Amino acid sequence: MKREVYITENYSETMHLGEEFADKIHHGITLALFGNLGSGKTTFIQGLAKGLGITKPIISPTFIIVREYKVSIKYKISSIKYFYHIDLYRINDQANLKELGIHDIINNSQNVVAIEWAEKMEDLLPKNTIKIRFEYLGDDKRRIIFNYNF
Ligand code: ADP
Ligand code: MG
Repeated sequence: MKREVYITENYSETMHLGEEFADKIHHGITLALFGNLGSGKTTFIQGLAKGLGITKPIISPTFIIVREYKVSIKYKISSIKYFYHIDLYRINDQANLKELGIHDIINNSQNVVAIEWAEKMEDLLPKNTIKIRFEYLGDDKRRIIFNYNF
Protein backbone atom coordinates (compact mmCIF):
# COMPACT_ATOMS: atom_id res chain seq x y z
CA MET A 1 0.00 0.00 0.00
CA LYS A 2 1.43 3.33 -1.13
CA ARG A 3 0.84 6.58 0.74
CA GLU A 4 1.63 10.12 -0.42
CA VAL A 5 1.22 13.26 1.65
CA TYR A 6 1.04 16.81 0.26
CA ILE A 7 0.68 20.18 1.94
CA THR A 8 -0.88 22.93 -0.14
CA GLU A 9 -0.66 26.58 0.85
CA ASN A 10 -3.46 27.95 -1.33
CA TYR A 11 -6.35 27.16 -3.63
CA SER A 12 -4.32 26.98 -6.84
CA GLU A 13 -1.80 24.53 -5.41
CA THR A 14 -4.65 22.11 -4.73
CA MET A 15 -5.97 22.73 -8.25
CA HIS A 16 -2.56 21.91 -9.70
CA LEU A 17 -2.32 18.75 -7.64
CA GLY A 18 -5.58 17.62 -9.25
CA GLU A 19 -4.44 18.65 -12.70
CA GLU A 20 -1.16 16.73 -12.38
CA PHE A 21 -3.02 13.71 -11.08
CA ALA A 22 -4.82 13.45 -14.44
CA ASP A 23 -1.48 12.49 -16.02
CA LYS A 24 -1.20 9.47 -13.73
CA ILE A 25 -4.51 8.02 -14.89
CA HIS A 26 -4.27 5.40 -17.60
CA HIS A 27 -7.51 3.48 -17.13
CA GLY A 28 -10.85 3.92 -15.43
CA ILE A 29 -10.48 4.40 -11.69
CA THR A 30 -12.45 5.46 -8.64
CA LEU A 31 -11.21 8.27 -6.43
CA ALA A 32 -12.82 8.51 -3.00
CA LEU A 33 -12.48 11.96 -1.42
CA PHE A 34 -12.86 12.37 2.33
CA GLY A 35 -12.89 15.52 4.42
CA ASN A 36 -15.01 18.30 5.85
CA LEU A 37 -16.73 21.14 4.03
CA GLY A 38 -14.17 23.59 2.72
CA SER A 39 -11.26 21.17 2.94
CA GLY A 40 -10.61 21.36 -0.82
CA LYS A 41 -12.30 18.32 -2.39
CA THR A 42 -14.11 20.24 -5.13
CA THR A 43 -11.03 22.35 -5.80
CA PHE A 44 -8.98 19.21 -6.41
CA ILE A 45 -11.69 17.84 -8.72
CA GLN A 46 -11.74 21.10 -10.70
CA GLY A 47 -8.02 20.66 -11.34
CA LEU A 48 -8.45 17.01 -12.23
CA ALA A 49 -11.21 17.84 -14.72
CA LYS A 50 -9.00 20.49 -16.30
CA GLY A 51 -6.23 17.91 -16.61
CA LEU A 52 -8.64 15.52 -18.31
CA GLY A 53 -9.36 18.20 -20.89
CA ILE A 54 -12.85 19.01 -19.61
CA THR A 55 -13.80 22.57 -20.44
CA LYS A 56 -17.27 22.64 -18.88
CA PRO A 57 -17.12 24.18 -15.42
CA ILE A 58 -17.22 21.84 -12.43
CA ILE A 59 -19.72 23.34 -10.03
CA SER A 60 -20.52 22.80 -6.38
CA PRO A 61 -22.72 22.64 -4.45
CA THR A 62 -26.06 21.99 -6.05
CA PHE A 63 -28.82 19.46 -5.57
CA ILE A 64 -27.43 17.41 -8.43
CA ILE A 65 -25.57 14.43 -6.99
CA VAL A 66 -24.12 12.81 -10.13
CA ARG A 67 -22.67 14.82 -13.02
CA GLU A 68 -21.20 13.36 -16.20
CA TYR A 69 -18.51 15.02 -18.33
CA LYS A 70 -16.92 13.92 -21.60
CA VAL A 71 -13.15 13.67 -21.38
CA SER A 72 -10.84 14.99 -24.09
CA ILE A 73 -9.85 12.97 -27.12
CA LYS A 74 -6.38 12.40 -25.67
CA TYR A 75 -7.84 10.30 -22.89
CA LYS A 76 -10.34 8.56 -25.13
CA ILE A 77 -7.34 6.93 -26.78
CA SER A 78 -6.50 5.37 -23.43
CA SER A 79 -10.19 4.28 -23.40
CA ILE A 80 -11.38 6.71 -20.74
CA LYS A 81 -14.61 8.18 -22.06
CA TYR A 82 -16.38 9.88 -19.18
CA PHE A 83 -15.53 11.66 -15.98
CA TYR A 84 -18.12 11.48 -13.22
CA HIS A 85 -18.27 13.92 -10.34
CA ILE A 86 -20.37 12.51 -7.53
CA ASP A 87 -21.13 14.53 -4.39
CA LEU A 88 -22.81 12.48 -1.66
CA TYR A 89 -23.19 15.41 0.76
CA ARG A 90 -26.97 15.22 0.64
CA ILE A 91 -27.22 11.43 0.74
CA ASN A 92 -28.47 10.09 4.05
CA ASP A 93 -29.56 6.63 3.00
CA GLN A 94 -27.42 4.18 1.02
CA ALA A 95 -30.60 2.92 -0.67
CA ASN A 96 -30.51 6.11 -2.75
CA LEU A 97 -27.14 5.13 -4.21
CA LYS A 98 -28.83 2.30 -6.07
CA GLU A 99 -31.39 4.64 -7.64
CA LEU A 100 -28.58 6.91 -8.81
CA GLY A 101 -26.87 4.01 -10.60
CA ILE A 102 -23.58 4.68 -8.84
CA HIS A 103 -22.64 1.00 -8.78
CA ASP A 104 -22.76 0.75 -12.60
CA ILE A 105 -20.87 4.00 -13.04
CA ILE A 106 -18.03 2.75 -10.84
CA ASN A 107 -17.92 -0.66 -12.49
CA ASN A 108 -17.53 0.73 -16.00
CA SER A 109 -13.78 0.74 -16.69
CA GLN A 110 -14.20 3.55 -19.23
CA ASN A 111 -15.13 5.95 -16.44
CA VAL A 112 -13.01 7.97 -14.09
CA VAL A 113 -15.13 8.60 -11.00
CA ALA A 114 -14.43 11.12 -8.22
CA ILE A 115 -16.68 10.84 -5.16
CA GLU A 116 -16.97 13.60 -2.57
CA TRP A 117 -18.16 12.58 0.91
CA ALA A 118 -17.03 9.03 0.19
CA GLU A 119 -17.49 8.31 3.93
CA LYS A 120 -21.13 7.73 3.04
CA MET A 121 -20.35 4.68 0.91
CA GLU A 122 -16.97 3.59 2.24
CA ASP A 123 -18.12 -0.03 2.66
CA LEU A 124 -19.30 -0.12 -0.98
CA LEU A 125 -16.14 1.19 -2.63
CA PRO A 126 -14.22 -1.18 -4.93
CA LYS A 127 -10.97 -2.63 -3.61
CA ASN A 128 -8.72 -0.66 -5.96
CA THR A 129 -10.19 2.72 -5.00
CA ILE A 130 -7.65 5.50 -4.43
CA LYS A 131 -8.59 7.20 -1.17
CA ILE A 132 -7.74 10.88 -0.78
CA ARG A 133 -8.13 12.60 2.60
CA PHE A 134 -8.37 16.38 2.86
CA GLU A 135 -7.51 18.06 6.16
CA TYR A 136 -7.87 21.72 7.09
CA LEU A 137 -4.64 23.00 8.66
CA GLY A 138 -5.36 26.74 8.54
CA ASP A 139 -7.03 29.42 6.41
CA ASP A 140 -5.16 28.49 3.23
CA LYS A 141 -3.30 25.39 4.32
CA ARG A 142 -4.48 21.85 3.65
CA ARG A 143 -2.97 18.41 4.10
CA ILE A 144 -3.90 15.97 1.33
CA ILE A 145 -3.15 12.29 1.83
CA PHE A 146 -3.34 9.71 -0.97
CA ASN A 147 -3.76 6.05 -0.11
CA TYR A 148 -3.31 3.58 -2.93
CA ASN A 149 -4.65 0.21 -1.97
CA PHE A 150 -2.37 -1.58 -4.43
P1 ADP B 1 -14.98 21.03 -0.32
O1 ADP B 1 -15.38 20.53 -1.68
O2 ADP B 1 -14.08 20.07 0.41
O3 ADP B 1 -16.15 21.46 0.50
P2 ADP B 1 -14.00 23.36 -1.74
O4 ADP B 1 -12.90 22.95 -2.64
O5 ADP B 1 -15.34 23.59 -2.32
O6 ADP B 1 -14.06 22.32 -0.51
O7 ADP B 1 -13.60 24.69 -0.97
C1 ADP B 1 -12.35 24.95 -0.45
C2 ADP B 1 -12.31 26.40 -0.02
O8 ADP B 1 -11.11 26.67 0.70
C3 ADP B 1 -12.34 27.35 -1.19
O9 ADP B 1 -13.08 28.49 -0.83
C4 ADP B 1 -10.87 27.70 -1.39
O10 ADP B 1 -10.68 28.97 -1.98
C5 ADP B 1 -10.35 27.67 0.02
N1 ADP B 1 -8.95 27.28 0.14
C6 ADP B 1 -8.00 27.95 0.81
N2 ADP B 1 -6.84 27.31 0.79
C7 ADP B 1 -7.02 26.19 0.07
C8 ADP B 1 -6.16 25.13 -0.30
N3 ADP B 1 -4.87 25.05 0.09
N4 ADP B 1 -6.69 24.13 -1.05
C9 ADP B 1 -7.99 24.17 -1.43
N5 ADP B 1 -8.85 25.15 -1.10
C10 ADP B 1 -8.38 26.17 -0.35
MG1 MG C 1 -17.28 20.03 -2.44
